[in-house]
Amino acid sequence: MRRFIVLLFYCSIVLLFGCQNQKLYKDTQLMLGTFVEVISPHRQAPGIVFAEIKRIENLLSKYNPESEVSKLNKLGNLKASPETFYIIKRAKEFWQVSDGAFDITVAPLVDLWGFTDKKYYLPKEEEIKDILNLVGANKIILKELENVIKFSVSGMKIDLGAIAKGYAVDCAVKKLKENNIKSCLINAGGQIYALGDKFGLAWKIAVRNPRGKDLMDYLVIKDKAVSTSGDYEQYFIKGKKRYAHIFNPKTGYPTDSGVISVTVIAQDGITCDALSTAIFVLGKEKGQELAQKFPGVEVRIIE
Ligand code: AMP
Ligand code: MG
Repeated sequence: MRRFIVLLFYCSIVLLFGCQNQKLYKDTQLMLGTFVEVISPHRQAPGIVFAEIKRIENLLSKYNPESEVSKLNKLGNLKASPETFYIIKRAKEFWQVSDGAFDITVAPLVDLWGFTDKKYYLPKEEEIKDILNLVGANKIILKELENVIKFSVSGMKIDLGAIAKGYAVDCAVKKLKENNIKSCLINAGGQIYALGDKFGLAWKIAVRNPRGKDLMDYLVIKDKAVSTSGDYEQYFIKGKKRYAHIFNPKTGYPTDSGVISVTVIAQDGITCDALSTAIFVLGKEKGQELAQKFPGVEVRIIE
C-alpha cells in the first residue's frame, strides 16, 4: 500500500457475514497509483466507483502517455476537454488562495528528486535553481472560451497528484447518486468519501498515528470527504534527514514546515485534497488561516 499510514475503515467487515439484510459488499482495485476500496450495502456500488475513477485516471494521470495531462506536458499546449480544463482551472484557484503553496507545476521538481521513477536523488542547489524557472502556476495560461491550456515557459509540466484523487472520488459519488445509491464508503488511498450512513449509523473512520501503529483519532462522518497528506507516504532518508514527496514550490525542496500529517474534512473531495496538500506546505499557523477561508472545513494537524 502506497500510504504508510492509512485511514482505517471502522465499519466492520463482520457485517458481511452477519445478518443477511445488513450485508455489506466490499471490493478493492489498484488505480490512481493506490488501492481504491469500496464498501456498500449495494452490490453494484464498487463497479460504478471503479469505472468512474478509471475514466478520470485516463484523463489526468501523468503516468498514462495517452492522457490529456501527458499530452499537455509533452506539447506545452492543449485544446482540452471541459473536464480537464475545469480541474486545471480549480488547481490554479487553489494556487492563488494558498499564496502559491499549492502548485501543480511542481512536476519537474518531482521528477528531479526522483519521486516519479522512485529513483530518489538529492539534487545540487544549482539544479534546483534551474528547475525553479519552470515552476509557478502563473505560467499556466488558460483560454476559457476555447478550453485551451498553454505553458508560457518551454519544459514546464504539471502533476495533478495532489488534487486528482479528490476530484475522482467526487465524480464517483455523483455517479452513485445518479444510480440512486445512498450508502457507500470510498477510500482511494486516504482520500475518503462517506456517502449517507451504514444501516442508520454514521460511518466511523479511525486515524492512525503517523509515527506508530496505534490509533489517534476517530472521525464520524456522513456525506463528507476526508483527505490526509503526510510525510510518510513517499519519502527517502539521506544523512538522517527525511525528504518527502510534497514540495515547497518557492524553495524547490521537500517542504519542511514541521507538520507530519494533515487531515481535512470538507463537503467535497477536491477541496479536501487540495487543502490537505496546501496546509502541509504552509505549516500549522498559516495552514489554519487558509482553512478559515473555507467555511465548514475542519482540519487536524499533527506536528
Ligand atoms: P497529496 O498526497 O494529495 O498531498 O499529494 C502529493 C502529491 O502532489 C505529490 O506526490 C506530488 O505529485 C504532488 N505535489 C507535491 N508538492 C505539491 C505542491 N506543493 N502542490 C501541488 N502538488 C504537489
Ligand atoms: Mg492532496
